[in-house]
Amino acid sequence: MNIYHKILELIDQHDSFAISAHVNPDGDSIGAQLALYSFLADLNKYVRIFNTDPIPPNYHFLPFSEKIEQPCDLDGYSPEVLIVLDASTLVRIGNHLSKNLVPQQLTINIDHHASADRFGDYNLVESGASSTCEIVYKLIQLSGTKIGYKQAMALYTGIMFDTGCFRYSNSTSQVHHIAANLIDQGIEVDKIYRAVYETNPVRRLRLLTKALETVEISPDGKIAWLIISKKMFDHTGTTLEDADGIINQIRSIDTIEVAIMAVSNAQEQSKISMRSKDYVDVGKICAEFGGGGHARAAGCLIDKSCETALEMVIEITEKYIDI
Ligand code: AMP
Ligand code: MN
Ligand code: MN
Repeated sequence: MNIYHKILELIDQHDSFAISAHVNPDGDSIGAQLALYSFLADLNKYVRIFNTDPIPPNYHFLPFSEKIEQPCDLDGYSPEVLIVLDASTLVRIGNHLSKNLVPQQLTINIDHHASADRFGDYNLVESGASSTCEIVYKLIQLSGTKIGYKQAMALYTGIMFDTGCFRYSNSTSQVHHIAANLIDQGIEVDKIYRAVYETNPVRRLRLLTKALETVEISPDGKIAWLIISKKMFDHTGTTLEDADGIINQIRSIDTIEVAIMAVSNAQEQSKISMRSKDYVDVGKICAEFGGGGHARAAGCLIDKSCETALEMVIEITEKYIDI
């Protein structure tokens, strides 16, 4: 029996579920959680969604987004099955949740990270998939239930997000077929795009302006980086989630192969985001610092100032550039 059928069988055999996903949720993790929630709820399962961080307001338009809980404590709730989405390690769902959200029976991991460490009792991991939403789509399709409007909204949002709006190399023919099927459910792609990308408060633009002033480029023009400091957040009234997406601005520089963004977080650590265009496997670079991700988009946390963290990451990146 293949892993898709096995997971459908496990869903059939159990009644209570919890769905979690990585910290600092993004379009793919949120879309996958809400589509899976809707699928399980339609099967009359008892299901709750727990995340460490709240979802950004630009995802509030998604059906069932209000079902996502950020528990201080879980009131002793222990589901039969825990399903962890879009997270390559259990601790990616957050320290507190990873220790306290303990299922009675089993954990299922559904993910598309090359760095997935397969921590579940059952692991549906496809590193060739564009997004976790693509995998959840296939799972629901295989079950024979109809993917309706609400699930289509969530799944399209996730696929759109992780493919950079169908621009990255993971925008396969299959991705476009899936997107076509989702659009056939009556979703309005322009409204989804606008909700996710064109509802920025002006403070976010002010943060972008400050961040762009810090851009530096290596002498060979192949690596570019920028810093977002705590001061910038304070001056513009922004928070960590407002920094999402800013890295794409430097990815657009013509000579660049690798873009790096260092963001100072509340714990005085540096959150490193990396993107590459063509050949550098930034997932491997981030893995050297205990993080992970994909070949073209990855991240890690470094317990140093942004300046020091950047120096360390650039040094390693130069080696990969020269390969
Ligand atoms: P980001 O730069 O935060 O948008 O993340 C890019 C990709 O790297 C996503 O697929 C993340 O799941 C992954 N990623 C980011 N930070 C980490 C981390 N600390 N550990 C493992 N994977 C990460
Ligand atoms: Mn994600
Ligand atoms: Mn993803």
